Amino acid sequence: MREQPAVLSDDQLERNFADIAPPLTNDYALLEANKCLFCHDAPCTLACPTHIDVPAFIKKIASGNLRGSARVILEANPFGHSCARACPVEVLCEGACVLNDRDEQPIKIALLQRHATDYVLEHKLKLFEPGAPTGRTVAIVGAGPAGLSCARELRRFGHAVTVFESKSQPGGLNTYGIAEYKLKADVALAEVQDILDLGVELRTGVTVESIEELLTEYDAVFVGVGLGSTKRLGIPGEDLTGVIDALTFIEHLKTHPYRDTKVGQRVVVIGAGNTAIDAVTQAKRLGAATATIVYRRGEADMPCYHYEYELAKRDGCGFRFQAAPQRIVSNGNGAAAGVAVRTPQGNEVIPCDMVIVAIGQGERDELAIPRDHPKVFVGGDCANGGAEIVNAAAEGVQAAKQIHERLTNG
Ligand SMILES: Cc1cc2nc3c(=O)[nH]c(=O)nc-3n(C[C@H](O)[C@H](O)[C@H](O)COP(=O)(O)OP(=O)(O)OC[C@H]3O[C@@H](n4cnc5c(N)ncnc54)[C@H](O)[C@@H]3O)c2cc1C
Ligand code: SF4
Repeated sequence: MREQPAVLSDDQLERNFADIAPPLTNDYALLEANKCLFCHDAPCTLACPTHIDVPAFIKKIASGNLRGSARVILEANPFGHSCARACPVEVLCEGACVLNDRDEQPIKIALLQRHATDYVLEHKLKLFEPGAPTGRTVAIVGAGPAGLSCARELRRFGHAVTVFESKSQPGGLNTYGIAEYKLKADVALAEVQDILDLGVELRTGVTVESIEELLTEYDAVFVGVGLGSTKRLGIPGEDLTGVIDALTFIEHLKTHPYRDTKVGQRVVVIGAGNTAIDAVTQAKRLGAATATIVYRRGEADMPCYHYEYELAKRDGCGFRFQAAPQRIVSNGNGAAAGVAVRTPQGNEVIPCDMVIVAIGQGERDELAIPRDHPKVFVGGDCANGGAEIVNAAAEGVQAAKQIHERLTNG
């Protein structure tokens, strides 16, 4: 069977992709803020890679100062808007909240963070200013969270910043990759615009091919190019119609009306990381009758976060463990009709009409990064091997401080 377009109505699709964690009302935010114990040496702040002063921003919400609260958040983390929607808080700030030790629910830090940062976004408040011009220039390769966090801080120091981005839109995976029910592209782009408004020059549609060349023109270069495309399975049948990699599938979904993204009736997702979960849940929400994770190891070995696994189960996704894909089976007309797997019980074919490959991203080999060069700085996924938005933001901010130090003191 060939891929079929989703048969859900536009209204249903809108509901399926609505925010999974809707915003707090003002009253609820006040109640929640007043539950905070405002710990000294707050473990939530320590657990946050950008070390946002969580008690301070929550206290400002409690006193009705949303602008001041957002300032505390965004001072530490230029991507505080998107992090509020997409951070894996269960393993970061909220996981560290002392209320967990009392068997109580942790403070809803991310939703409070969203409450404050949405306020400044909605009211178009400008919280930061560019610094006095220094006459120094920095090139940034990649307009993802790492590159743009670095750009914002460099502008605040007064350096001239030019960001080069291959894609037509900035934001990196925030715009093109984060699950639609967590973060929508328009929010991601509004957050980016705030940074660009500080006087960052953005050149989209430009793929940098040589860092050395940039070094002849700029005083320093920051590289935040993220990771490359999804790794290939390396099994027969991978090029059949109906086989797609997870990033391409998700990017299409995030950049087109929902009904325009094709989904099969019976979808198999190969892999069990967070991207695989995003792919399987979004396939189900697009209208697939069945959407099943196929994973060569056991349930306990899944690299995805536990709460992501729970989400996929709640969405009605299926799981086949200890099933190692051997080949994609053709329907005889060049399209996928199943995944042949080896299991402890023997070989079998899991029937499907769409296969989404989600076994991780490779490195960006196409760009040589002279990592030891004193004027070259690297951060985000291409430096840490692939982490979260908040890590990329932290590394971008940190690199900006190092670049400023080098440009100022040599
Ligand atoms: C499917 C998926 C879902 C995710 N979900 C979450 C989530 O829910 N929560 C979370 O916190 N994190 C999530 N992440 C991780 C998060 O998106 C990344 O950690 C973060 O985007 C890394 O930021 P970055 O700036 O390093 O890279 P990227 O966001 O990848 O940005 C790099 C940018 O560089 C550009 N570029 C690359 N090469 C060049 C070149 N030669 N010249 C010019 N430009 C170039 C790219 O086009 C891209 O725009 C997810 C990742 C994936 C893949
Ligand atoms: S940025 Fe993320 S980890 Fe840090 S406090 Fe905010 S929600 Fe928590």
